[in-house]
Amino acid sequence: MKPFAYQRATSVDEAVLAVAGHPETVYLAGGTNLVDLMKLGVSRPQALVDISRLPLDHLTHQDGHTVIGAMATNAAVAGDPVIRANFPVLSESILAGASGQLRNSASTAGNLLQKTRCAYFQDVSKPCNKRAPGSGCPARAGAHRDLGILGVSTSCIATQPSDMAVALSALDTTVSLRSATGERTVKLQDFYVAPGTTPHRETVLEHGELITQVALPALPEGAVSRYHKVRDRWSYAFAVISVAAVVVMDAHGRIEQARIAWGGVAPRPWRALLAEAELRGHKPSPELFERALRAELRHATPLPQNEFKVDLVKDVTAGLLTDLAHPAGDRKVTR
Ligand SMILES: Cc1cc2nc3c(=O)[nH]c(=O)nc-3n(C[C@H](O)[C@H](O)[C@H](O)COP(=O)(O)OP(=O)(O)OC[C@H]3O[C@@H](n4cnc5c(N)ncnc54)[C@H](O)[C@@H]3O)c2cc1C
Ligand code: SF4
Repeated sequence: MKPFAYQRATSVDEAVLAVAGHPETVYLAGGTNLVDLMKLGVSRPQALVDISRLPLDHLTHQDGHTVIGAMATNAAVAGDPVIRANFPVLSESILAGASGQLRNSASTAGNLLQKTRCAYFQDVSKPCNKRAPGSGCPARAGAHRDLGILGVSTSCIATQPSDMAVALSALDTTVSLRSATGERTVKLQDFYVAPGTTPHRETVLEHGELITQVALPALPEGAVSRYHKVRDRWSYAFAVISVAAVVVMDAHGRIEQARIAWGGVAPRPWRALLAEAELRGHKPSPELFERALRAELRHATPLPQNEFKVDLVKDVTAGLLTDLAHPAGDRKVTR
């Protein structure tokens, strides 16, 4: 591992100033992803600014809205009783990832910013456009079974690995960012950027900007939500595909609102907006689900090894929508 300087920040201002203007300095949160990448030589910062002691571990609830501090641990968020009651999809997504020990260290912001698990990205002896811009993408002709089918480019087909981000996408979450010059808020949907010809640029975050918190708007009365992850092993496995869904039915048994986000298929949490539009206002049926999901997946560009993901994500989503459109009642949001 390359030697690096270390500084523990005592305030948000101090942290931001220590990183802004220093391109080789990065924030250290729980360290569960960054330190691994430093050991592999994938990440080679000159200095780390430790933000783990900043007062950013808040979890507040008001009128159905929830605000989660950037340093709230994955364990704290998943176990929070209000989140479990109001946003079960979020709690389930976190518990479907990593291990208890990791979730005790892993932070909310670090989870959203964790790097792809593409094996070529993690292997510095191989070319990779994301790690070394312009060097090539061996995944397209090599091992791409776990990689993306939607929103990918010829430069990169890597997936964003965060389970939590998928649930937060279905929950219409916003992300608050703090820089040396001010604050801004962006929708999670707009936070991740498409790879295009610059896959090394993954989010709208500018160097030195600090995520301070994420905000979840209240769900409509009667909303039900769930997360389903398909993985190769029961634990320590990232998603082959995953589905987060939020459904609201109207008084006539029609789908008033369906929000669907997919993980394991794209360089960002993939919001299935075309499918959502097809579902709105209709009574649930297998034919409706098939039609709506096909409309979304028409835009998939799979490669030979990951073609199976098209039917897999369709079928898992249809199953989840079937369950949510006929809920047992115990997952409904009530206020
Ligand atoms: C064995 C193993 C299995 C795992 N399985 C899963 C899984 O199934 N699903 C899943 O979703 N995750 C999984 N993870 C990933 C784990 O959830 C992440 O490592 C963790 O969430 C990262 O959080 P952290 O606080 O440790 O981030 P760090 O490693 O400290 O940071 C990650 C990145 O975020 C940046 N950063 C951190 N905080 C901020 C901030 N506030 N503002 C700006 N930048 C910031 C850092 O500079 C760094 O680039 C697994 C990890 C391991 C090691
Ligand atoms: S898919 Fe992306 S991360 Fe993987 S090798 Fe290609 S460029 Fe690198």
